Order: sequence, then C-alpha cells, then structure tokens
Amino acid sequence: MSTLKRLNMVDSWFTRISQALARDKISTADNKDELRYAVRKINQFFYAEKPSADVVDKHADVIVDLLLSTSNGSDDFEFIAQIFNIIREILDCDKKTSRPLVKSLIRNDVCSFLLNTLRVVAEDRGLGQDISLQIHQILAAIGHHDKRLALKARLFKTIGSTISLLRIYSYNAKVCPVLLTLLKIYAKNAITAAAICRAAGLQPLLRLALTLDRRHAKLQRLSITVVRHLTQTKKLAARATTTTIVRDILAVVFLMDKSQGQNRVRTVKIKEGLLKVLLNIVKSKAGRVQFLEANGFYLLYELALNVLPSDYSCTFVDLSCQVLLHCCPKQQLPIDSIFSPVRFNLPQGYDYIVSNELLSADPQIAKDLDELREKCKSAIPTNERVSTADQRLRPKSSIGSAITRSSSATKCVTTASSVRPKSSKGTKLEKKKTEQKTVTKKKSVTNGTKYRQVPGLNSNNLDDQEDTGIRLVEDEELDDEDSSKSDDNDEEEDDEEDEISNKENVLDSSVPLPNDEQQTRDSVDLSRAYEQFFDEMVDPVYLLRSKMAQSILDPSTESLLSRLFRNILPSSLTLLSTQSAFSYWRMPLNLYFQTYSILAKSTKSAYRFTKLAYPDAFNAVSYARFEPMQKFDERNNRSTLLGDIRRIIYPTSIFNHTVYDFDTAVEHSVVTALDNDDEQRCQMRSSLDHLHFDSQFECGNLRKAVQITEEEYDLILRPDINTFRYHQWFYFEVSNMRHGITYRFNIINFEKANSQFNSGMQPVMFSVCDAVNGKPYWRRIGEKVSYYKNTYGKKKKVYYTLTFNIRFTYDNDVCYIAYHYPYTYTTLMTDIVNWSNTYDRSSIYFRQQVLCKTLSENDCPLLTITSFYNQNDVYHSEKQTIPMHERTYVMLTARVHPGESNASWIMKGIIDYLLSDEPTARLLRDRYIFKIVPMLNPDGVINGCQRCSLATKDLNRQWSAPNSVLFPTIYHTKGLLAYLSMCSSRPITLFCDFHGHSRQKNFFFYGNDPRLHFLGPAIGRSTITKIFPKLFTGVPGFALQSCLFTMRKQKEGCARMVVWEEFKIDFAYTMEATYNGFDAGLYKGLQIQISTLQMIGHDFCQVLTRLGEHEYKTPETIIPMEDLFVTNENHSQEKRATNGDEKRRSSSAVSSSSSSSSSLLSLTDGDVH
Ligand SMILES: [Zn+2]
Repeated sequence: MSTLKRLNMVDSWFTRISQALARDKISTADNKDELRYAVRKINQFFYAEKPSADVVDKHADVIVDLLLSTSNGSDDFEFIAQIFNIIREILDCDKKTSRPLVKSLIRNDVCSFLLNTLRVVAEDRGLGQDISLQIHQILAAIGHHDKRLALKARLFKTIGSTISLLRIYSYNAKVCPVLLTLLKIYAKNAITAAAICRAAGLQPLLRLALTLDRRHAKLQRLSITVVRHLTQTKKLAARATTTTIVRDILAVVFLMDKSQGQNRVRTVKIKEGLLKVLLNIVKSKAGRVQFLEANGFYLLYELALNVLPSDYSCTFVDLSCQVLLHCCPKQQLPIDSIFSPVRFNLPQGYDYIVSNELLSADPQIAKDLDELREKCKSAIPTNERVSTADQRLRPKSSIGSAITRSSSATKCVTTASSVRPKSSKGTKLEKKKTEQKTVTKKKSVTNGTKYRQVPGLNSNNLDDQEDTGIRLVEDEELDDEDSSKSDDNDEEEDDEEDEISNKENVLDSSVPLPNDEQQTRDSVDLSRAYEQFFDEMVDPVYLLRSKMAQSILDPSTESLLSRLFRNILPSSLTLLSTQSAFSYWRMPLNLYFQTYSILAKSTKSAYRFTKLAYPDAFNAVSYARFEPMQKFDERNNRSTLLGDIRRIIYPTSIFNHTVYDFDTAVEHSVVTALDNDDEQRCQMRSSLDHLHFDSQFECGNLRKAVQITEEEYDLILRPDINTFRYHQWFYFEVSNMRHGITYRFNIINFEKANSQFNSGMQPVMFSVCDAVNGKPYWRRIGEKVSYYKNTYGKKKKVYYTLTFNIRFTYDNDVCYIAYHYPYTYTTLMTDIVNWSNTYDRSSIYFRQQVLCKTLSENDCPLLTITSFYNQNDVYHSEKQTIPMHERTYVMLTARVHPGESNASWIMKGIIDYLLSDEPTARLLRDRYIFKIVPMLNPDGVINGCQRCSLATKDLNRQWSAPNSVLFPTIYHTKGLLAYLSMCSSRPITLFCDFHGHSRQKNFFFYGNDPRLHFLGPAIGRSTITKIFPKLFTGVPGFALQSCLFTMRKQKEGCARMVVWEEFKIDFAYTMEATYNGFDAGLYKGLQIQISTLQMIGHDFCQVLTRLGEHEYKTPETIIPMEDLFVTNENHSQEKRATNGDEKRRSSSAVSSSSSSSSSLLSLTDGDVH
C-alpha cells in the first residue's frame, strides 16, 4: 500500500468515527461496533507508523470528541484504554506534531474528564489500574498547560490514588517519573501541596529524595523538587518537621560531600536541591530548632568553608550562607538605642511628633505603655511599673511626656471618630470636582482677572479648622501602626521619591496646626507677603540696581566679607577656560577658605560641630579622569558572609573595641572656633595604634566605630535627627592609618534592600595628603565593595551591610569618606557669595533673598535670575527680546532630601550656566525669570540627614497642605507659586525639583500623566508633559526609558503633583540623577563625578531653550502628542548635527573640572549618535 493510500484510509476511519458520533446520542450497538472497529484500526496504524503532524492537525478535535463521548456511563474500559492509546501515541511525538491535540484537549477541559475517570476507576484493581496509569501519563504530559490542574485534582479527590501508585511504583523507572512530574505540577499550588501532605505523600517522596543509590539520580532530583514545593510555606515547612527531615538532609549532604572525583561532580545538583529544601524548612521556627539541635550550624559552616575555590559553582556556598543566616539569632546593633542621639526640640505644641517617632522606634515601648495604662485602671500601684518602663525607654528624659501624650492621644482618637466621619478620599473627590469647575470657568474668563482660586492656601482650610487638632493626632496614631507594618513591603518600591516611609507620609500629609496659627490667605495677603520676592517687576531699573547690593548675610558677616572681597577682587579671581564661550569663575583657595569659614559661623546645627571638613572648606573637585564602575565579584560577597557567620560562631575571636562614639563625644565636646588643622595633623601620629574617626562636622553622620580586628572596623551611622531610621547617607573622617595595609570597613545599619554598591558603585574619598600635594580631588575608592543583608535587627526590622576595603597611600593621612560628593549648606552660601561677586552686572539681573528661616533659624535662600531689558543690546534680535513683564517664570528647587547631594551639584551647574556668557544662557535670561530655591531642606543637609527635616517628616510629602511652622521652606515655596498664579498674569512655564536616585543609573524625569491620576483621569488637562523629557533624547547620561509619568496615591503631596494639580503647571517634574553612573551612551560604564553632574545642569539649560522654540502658550489647545514628538525629534536632531554640540560639551568639561578630560570625551564621541 502506498503512503498516500494508507493516509486516505486513516482519514476514512476518522470520518467514520465523526459520522458515527454525529449520527445521534442514542448509542446503538451498530454505532458502537463501528467506533470500536475504527479505533482499533487507527491504533494499529499508529503502532506501525508514527502519526504525522498533518493527520493530528486534521483530526485532533475528532479524537477529543470521541473521548468525551465515552463519558455518559460507558464502563467499557477496554474501549477507553484504546482511545487513550491513540492519544498517548500522539503525545509521544515531537511538540510540533502533538500541539493541535494538546490545544484541543485543554480547550475542552479533558483534564477534568480524566480526573473524573481516575476517581471512578481508582477502586478497580484489574484493568482500572492500567487505565489510571494511562491517565497519569496523559496528565503528566499536558498538565502544565492547564493552570488549574492542581485545583481540579483536589476537587476530584484523586491525589490519594496518585500517592498510592507512587508507593507501588517507587523504583519503577518508567512509571515513577510520570507520577513525580504530575506531583510537581500539583505541588506548585500551596493548597494542593498541603493536600498531598495530608494524604501522607511526603514520606515516599522523602524516601526517594534521600536515597544514596546512584542509579536513581534522576528520580532523586525530581522528587527533591517536589519536596521543595511541599515545603514552600512556613506552615508546610513546620508540618514537614514532624519527620526527621532536617537530620536526614544534613546526613545525606554530609555523606555526599565526602565522596570524591566523578561522584562529587554528580552529586552537586542533588546537594544544592537538598539545601533548597533545607532553606524552606528553616524558615519555620520548628525547622530552625531542629536545625540547631542537629548541630547543623557548625556542620554546614564547615561544609561551606571546605568548598574549594576551584570546585563547581558557588551555589552551594550561597545556599549554605542563606540557611545559616536564617538560623542566626538576630543580634542587637551595638548601640544603646537606635533612636537619634541628637534631639532637636520642635516648636511648642509639636513635641508629640518626636514622642510618637520614639514610640514607633520600639513597638515594645508602646505595648508596655498600653499595658501600663490597663494596669493603672485596675488600680495596681504604679510606681514599680513606671520604673521598669523607664528602664526600657532609654532616652529617659521624655518618658513622662510620652506617657501623658499617648494617653491623651487615645482619648482624642475616640472623640475624633465620632466628630470626623468624613473620609479623606471623599473630601478629595469633592475638591476635585470644584477644581474642575474652576477650570471651566477659567477658560471663559480671560487673563484680565487677577485673582484666582488657589485650593490649599485659601478659605478651603476654614472648613477643617474645627477638627484639625484632633484629626492630626489620629493621623499620627495611624501613622505608627502603619509604619511598623509597611517596613517590609515598601522595599519593593523602586521609586526614589517614595522610599521608606511613603505610606505613613500619605497619611499625615496635613500635620496639625494649632488653632491660633491657622491662617486664611487671600490674594491680597499673598501679594503683600510675597511682593518683596518679585522686585524684578518693579520699575524703574535703577531701583533694582540699588537693591541688588543687599545681601542675604547678616550685617556682621556681610561687612567682613565685603571687606574681604574689596581687597582681593577682581584681579585674583580665576576665570577658567577662556577659549570656551562658557566662562566659569573660581575663587582662589585662600579666599574660598576665608569665605567658607566666615559663613560657617552662621550655619546653625542641631548639635555642636568641632571642625570644618577639609574638602568642603577647600573647595574639593572630582577626580580629573573618568572612573569606571567596578565589576561585582560574587565570590567575594560569599566569603564576606562566611566571615560574618564565623564571628557569630567564635565571638571571642574579635576585638570588639569601640574606637569612636559620637553619643559621648558630642556631649563632652567644647566650644571651639570652627577651623581646620588637617594639614598639621597629617604629620603627627597618635600614640594609639588604631584608626581614628570623626564626624562632628557639617553633613557628617558617623555614630560609632568598633574595631573588629587589626584592620577591620564596624561602623554605625546616625539616623535622621529625631528619628531612628533613614540610614543611607554617610560622611566621616578617618585618620591615623598606616600606608600599604588593607583596611576593611563594614557599615552595618543600612535599611534599603538593595543598593547600587552591588552594581559597580564605589564610595568617594578625599585625602588631605593628596590635596597638599596638589591633588585636591574626591575620588571613587574601595575594593571588594559589597552590600548584603546581615544578622542585625529585631523582629521584622532587618539591616544591611556595606563593606569595602581601602589601601591608603600615606601614613597618618587624614581622609574623608562619603556616600557621595558632599555639598554642604555652607558650600551653597559660599557659592552664592561667589556668584553675586562675579556675574556680569551690566546685563544680568541676579538677586539673592531669604525666602524664610528654617526650624533651626538658618536662612533658606531664594535666587532670581533674568536679564535687564535693554533695547540697545547688540546681541538681541527682535524675537529674543521680551520685556520683563512679558517673561514667564521657571521655578527650580533641589535638595528637599538632604542625602541627595548630587541634586545640589546639578543645581550648581544650572546656576553657573545661567550666569555665564553662553549665548543660550543669554537667551534663557531674556525669555524667562528664574526663581530658584537651591536647598529646600537646609537643616537636614547641615545635620547629615538622609531624608527628613528636623520635624521627622519627608518634606516632599507635605506640599498639599504644608504647615507654616513645621515646614516653612515648603510653605513659602508654595506661597511663591501661589502668588504667581493668583497675583500675576504671567504663567509659570516650568517647575522642576531635583533629586538623587539610589537604585538606578543615568538621569531621568518623573512627570504627571493626567490619564493616570489615582482619582481617575483628570479631564481637561493637557498631556503635553512628556514633551520636555523627550527633548533630552541624545543628551549624554539621559535615559528616556527610565522616565515615569504616573500620578499614584503614594506620591500625593509631592512637589510635582501638587504644583500640577493646584497651579495647573503642565511642565512639572522631578528630575532624578544617579549616585552611581551610566549604562548607555557617551558615559557608558563610568561612575558619575561632580563635573558630570554639573554638566547635566548645563544640558538642562540647553534643552530648556528648545522648549521655548515651540508655541505652547494657549493651554486650551491640547495638541496631539505624537505630532509634537515627531517635529521635536527631527528638529533636535538637525540642531545637534549642525551646532557641534559635542565640541561645546568637551570644552566645558575642561572648564568645570579644571582638567584635561577632553581627550577621553572626543575618543568616545561616536557613541552619541
Ligand atoms: Zn529625593
């Protein structure tokens, strides 16, 4: 017979089947015989010849129909078995051939049919067992396509029969893998896994998993996987510990480890599998107990140590470390209290904020207090209780107030619940509605109306006035509860704006206002209050010029400074890079130092400083060459972990010698005139033979240093003032070192789950000896950098360690080590002095004012930059000249998060640029009035905080309703914006807040997409936001793919959203810059430097000019975005091609870092396009 003929015959049999099936549901004897005959024939055919893809494709549905037709009461097992045979023959073929059948089987839910049949035949010992084996084979082959198979197996109660088959066929090389495969699919579902355990399925599987018989390696591996699934949850793991599983696993792993040669390689996978099971089991408490009882800690540690460097993959060591870390008892950080050693007293009436923070530092205290209150009620003598609570609550002073406060808080909450049923969401919705109304109204009214409604700053607040006091307390209470819960999950957050406390901060976006403080502000008040900040609008010009002379400094320092500058200026100032059009002024070092020291005197800190840090006082710059990112060495990470575990096993092997303790140092320090004698110290050696540490200077935040061995030190960072958390930023001084020795530093109380330190980033270091030798650079430094979870913590609180090695170049050097290039508040003030003395007074309008005082009475500077309107200026073309009163505003802010010093360097780049001679800078000054608040959180910066202000809150969550007492800088910055939208007819073109991002590379923007508002799409708002970031395409270091345009609930109260919402500024952004470096473009593979950050600032200005080249002036026109993108892109490409952008870039690189980096840049120029 020819192939074709035979195929025709197959077709005909299938046709007969489908005809017979179609004829009717009455199963006549004839019909049945017909089917039987055809099925037998097909079986014979498939037995002789593999089914072809063609045949399967054509008849898959017929086969499935045939199978399902047997469901109505057919007990003809032989016939069903024949059909199963056909299906199995097809499933045995390659994937491509069997796919149509698999699809059809799944589509028609044959799995349920099979499971049902399985249940029916389970009782039958004869033919039934064959059928159930066949069913298992089919299910094992197609089961992974059915997502609900595990659930169905549970519903049809077939798990028991599968397990009993497993007992029978345990070592059957043909059947057992099938059963294990199916069980693997089942066990992935945790509930079904529990069902398998209930059906006593774990024991036969464990027997298979723990066999030492080499012949069954494949079965063993498969069953280990199933067992791993069967212990996937803590509950399951605890159930498994009722067996001797832990001991057995340890024994098997230990025995296998003793085997040699070929065998050893073969057992690697099995050992790793078993360790994975062990890791599951020690996640349960019972598992840990068994593990420790079985001496597993020492055993596994020794096994991990014995893994040879040349030995197979390091997964084994990795897993061992993980198991060991899970079983380590959590250790207390070696400090008395995790709470900030520095307290700043908040204004009267607000001190409960600190008490609340103190309570949440240790939930146990809160619990104790609750208990205490209960006990008080039941009239038990309280004296004793109080004293025990007193001991627990380490910072003793506040105990009394804490108790009274929280009890009064409880009282308030109970009353509040009745007073304020209004849910905050409801209010928001209402507010939104009214806002939309105002929008529509606004459209009909023209620009002539001077006063507009500004929600948030006007009578809106009146409604809430009555219950504010109460509500706030309630919020705080919620806050505590929430923060303890949220500690784990927000580690998933990848959004830097959010960070650790986003949830809590959503809740307390409005902080209590004492009643007398509540203000209604209408536009008249506003204009009176803020008029002074808009002097540029006052005519005539000479008035401006006279006012320019005013300084933001207090009179005494001002006269000192002006004398200084009168004597030295302008001849001694260095104008850098005269070849480039972009000029950049730098003060000579001695002048800089004098200015810095004078200004430092008026910088007010929350605790006493004892010195000026050398790099800040002497204007350190970044290293003259690009510094590549480091390669991460996993092996090194593992040995570090093992080292930590060793310390726990052999605690006496370490020195444990405290060499620096901020808590006591700050108490005993005496008042000194702030100065720096590092250069003299370089030549001296202390009698003590260990490193010296110090951090009692601006932005410093080391709390404690403990010597571990001769060359190793554990370091602990200070938390943000008045809190117990936010450890990330660090800055400290180290001295008394020996050159040539490798020192290791472990900073042991980080809180974030991951860090760029594992992606090539290094800390930065400044050496005073180097500076004396003419190299005053911050450099990236540190070998074997690694960041990992350590064994410190308490309950759910976990900490992470950053470890790095440093070999110092000089004996007795004085070095400064930091998370990132520091930029202190005093640096900013020095820069302002520098700017105000160097800008071109004939054409630039530059004004410095004090926006407000901070909580600790520091000035929060506000800068205004624009140009004088001068019709006679030669370079003005007609188009560029815009009279002062027609210019729009650009508002820039930075450093709301004090640890993000990179934002300040970008801001410095922007201001340098705006005050320069660059034609584009002139263009910008002619077109816009820049209002710049370069440091929104001076107090945080000065005191070395990471995220908060002294009022313990993230200021970037306070914009919705900023409290004027607690958050003055936010209150008044928002006030400026309100003034502009209420009292001026000129719109704000752009708002941008500058930030640093600790978990991403490159720089990028966050913006608002009205379609993604968390309250639903914001109707009537334009979507042009994305245009500005898009214009950065091609700018070195920019990553468009990292930009995010969302309006999530967590971000409520952050600058860009509030500004967008309340002042209708479409171009409102957060710019995020990396601490680490770049993974694409011109700077690919390089770590970021001060000069790169400043360059980003310059680029920001350049791109800003392009924004003005388009007409977006009418907000009513909502332009199709895509159209705009196309034109912009073409345009920017053209421009880039013609104006020799890169030449400019490389020349300004030279100017800002005063180095010769242009050669490297020009070499990599090709990357740009
Ligand atoms: Zn930030």
